[in-house]
Amino acid sequence: MTLSIRNIIPIIKAQFVGVNEIAVIDSVSIDSRSLQNSESTLFFAIVGPNHDGHNYISNLISIGVSNFVVNHVPKEFENKANFLLVENTLEALQNFASAYRSNFDFPIIGVTGSNGKTIIKEWLNFLLSPDYNIIRSPKSYNSQVGVPLSVLGINEKHNLGIFEAGISTINEMENLQKIIQPTIGILSNIGSAHDEGFHDIGEKIKEKLKLFTSVEVLIMNKNKTIEAFLNPKINTFSWSSEDGKADVFVIAKEYSDQTELKITYHKLCFKITIPFNDQASIENAIQCLMVLLYFKYDQDTIQNRMQLLYPVEMRLKVKNGSNNTTLIDDSYSSDYQSLKIALDFLESQKQYKKKTLILSDIFQSGLVLEELYSKVSHLIVSNKINRVIAIGATISTFKNKFPNCIAFETTEKFIQNIDTISFENETILIKGARHFHFEEIVSLLEEKTHETVLEINLNAISHNLNYFKSKLSPKTKLMVMVKAFGYGNGGYEIAKLLSHHKVDYLGVAFADEGISLKNAGIDLPIMVLNPENTSFSAIIQHQLEPEIYSIKGLNAFLKIAEQKKLKHFPIHIKLDTGMHRLGFEEETIDELIAKLKDNKTVEVKSILSHLSASDDRMFVDFTLSQIKLFEKLSSKLISELQINPIRHILNTSGISNYSQAQFDMVRLGIGLYGVSNDEEEQKLLENVGTLKSIISQIRTIEEGESVGYSRRFMATKTTKVATIPIGYADGISRHWGNGVGYVTIKNKKAPILGSVCMDMLMVDISDIECKEGAEVTIFGDNPTVSFMAKQLGTIPYEIMTSISQRVKRVFYRE
Ligand SMILES: *Cc1c(COP(=O)(O)O)cnc(C)c1O
Repeated sequence: MTLSIRNIIPIIKAQFVGVNEIAVIDSVSIDSRSLQNSESTLFFAIVGPNHDGHNYISNLISIGVSNFVVNHVPKEFENKANFLLVENTLEALQNFASAYRSNFDFPIIGVTGSNGKTIIKEWLNFLLSPDYNIIRSPKSYNSQVGVPLSVLGINEKHNLGIFEAGISTINEMENLQKIIQPTIGILSNIGSAHDEGFHDIGEKIKEKLKLFTSVEVLIMNKNKTIEAFLNPKINTFSWSSEDGKADVFVIAKEYSDQTELKITYHKLCFKITIPFNDQASIENAIQCLMVLLYFKYDQDTIQNRMQLLYPVEMRLKVKNGSNNTTLIDDSYSSDYQSLKIALDFLESQKQYKKKTLILSDIFQSGLVLEELYSKVSHLIVSNKINRVIAIGATISTFKNKFPNCIAFETTEKFIQNIDTISFENETILIKGARHFHFEEIVSLLEEKTHETVLEINLNAISHNLNYFKSKLSPKTKLMVMVKAFGYGNGGYEIAKLLSHHKVDYLGVAFADEGISLKNAGIDLPIMVLNPENTSFSAIIQHQLEPEIYSIKGLNAFLKIAEQKKLKHFPIHIKLDTGMHRLGFEEETIDELIAKLKDNKTVEVKSILSHLSASDDRMFVDFTLSQIKLFEKLSSKLISELQINPIRHILNTSGISNYSQAQFDMVRLGIGLYGVSNDEEEQKLLENVGTLKSIISQIRTIEEGESVGYSRRFMATKTTKVATIPIGYADGISRHWGNGVGYVTIKNKKAPILGSVCMDMLMVDISDIECKEGAEVTIFGDNPTVSFMAKQLGTIPYEIMTSISQRVKRVFYRE
């Protein structure tokens, strides 16, 4: 894309306020944090419920960005940059994408439906890429923002597009249709996902079908309910396994690890196999098959390509590598668009200063190689990558374009030489096309631990954060509690994500937790809830901010602070309003005031208290009295000391139940990790942690035989037993055994047999088809941590923080 500002103005109906109308742009951005933003970027300042792109204009100008689409021109920047003034910046982005799309007239496949969109898109890309230069939505960029950004990636060399469109409520699809302008439509499975946004299934179907208003053909599973809503003028190409009137008739015969599809189409009848046997994959594969038939591929090509379909991995995973490295595993695709996304992710998650990129040949850029690798080089340089390991016959010939580049022709050659290259104290992004098998590299660089992992969904954390932000007044600041290793979910990675989201404060329990965050490069202010006197020096040295809760503690801190000749060192005053744990009681306030009056060594940055029953409706009066006392005591401190501190008292359930008491800041804890004690609110949060393991061994026992220590489980019939390598030393309570708890395997419950052992537990899989090595969910969507807590007579906090550190944490983003 190369366009001048002058040409863009009429397209988005903007008013020009600026300095240089002939400036040329070659990319668009909505993310102020991307290192790819540059002089030739057009930045759209998008305004969302919790986010306003206009706030970042000053930063962006300071790094050289000079073209902005805005809904108002900030006074201080007039004449400092080009502003395209519009009413609605999102609409402008969409209109721009739509006009841009109209410049191209090759076939574009538009996919919508409730399930399977991304898989169908990725598979079609795999099946068709030998013959086309394909542009497709990266990852699942299918929203009101994602679709325009995807479409703006089209260039002159592409000759086929595949874009997905996702909607959550009515009146959204029309926009996406105008942007994608598909010529071939695919309607994937209409399941129950996102039903909240629609009155009924009819409304949902009608909305989805709006993507197909001007396609030359719509590919779909023949279905009477959908046809009832379909404009009869739309030409369909349908398939079915039941209805003989469909254009293509498919009979699926499932085997243990593959499926044979018998296809009847016109006078043709032939069989192919696909390497899956679950319903969803079969259905998605048939949708792809339909495209191949529509494109008139012959049977042999269809068979040869479809038997190679593979599980689609849509996540970027963050893993611990050996020698103090962090790995970002994106070993499934390699194209220019997704490289951009992966580099942005690298920046948001990097734990170490040094950054290495392991990159394979790049496909389907639609560009000539020289130009492609120059662009890639530009990306790599702007992202400040220290070292590149290039793997592949093509990329190695462009090795001189990359900083500190070591090149290998094949993955094998790299692996043979891996010991000659040092990897330590760095973050490594591993990004390669599928057939380079970079998963082998990941497995070599990965820290070796056992099979049990706690997977942390970073998207869910962002979602939950935004949910709670939306409940706050825009002026309220946000402290997030990351104590106890982020409630067991991971300290650094979550802190890093939170600083990316620009929360105001972090809270930890002890100084050492704060120190390790600071050492890892987290620069948000951090409050330490329980600073022991022995840690005051370290607190000062690492610029942590102590909570002071007693005269004794204040004296001790002042003594050290005075020795060090500090001025205005930030401290936080904790008041006891009824919790009776830590804090100044009402009687000590006068003494506190006397001590702090005219003191220049420390500065009261905030005043806080903690509610003891904000989650319990039985104690509304008590809680209100805590809030009232807090108001009274803090006001007294403020007026007598003539200070202007941040006041805060609400934790998660406080935010939900007493939002009138937000004061200046709130302290979000468990809610961030996806747990609410309110059933309705729970539905609006996303699950963050999933504890997973695998089956080590399977055996069948007969009636009268027993399982585990003390023969606690006695079989009353033939029973299939699976052993799973996770036990109470990993944090699974022994009370969860002996028929109380269960794990989930293949979406089915497998009750725990006998007692939980130290490192293992056994479950009943008599009714579950599964093999050794199969994946097991200990908690996550089912059972949920809240459910477990209830059964075990405890609270989710305890379950989450009990998962031992020997369980590897894997962070991912969808
Ligand atoms: C842990 C903690 C919080 C957060 O509580 P949640 O119930 O997890 O939201 C807030 N304030 C203090 C003082 C805490 O110790």
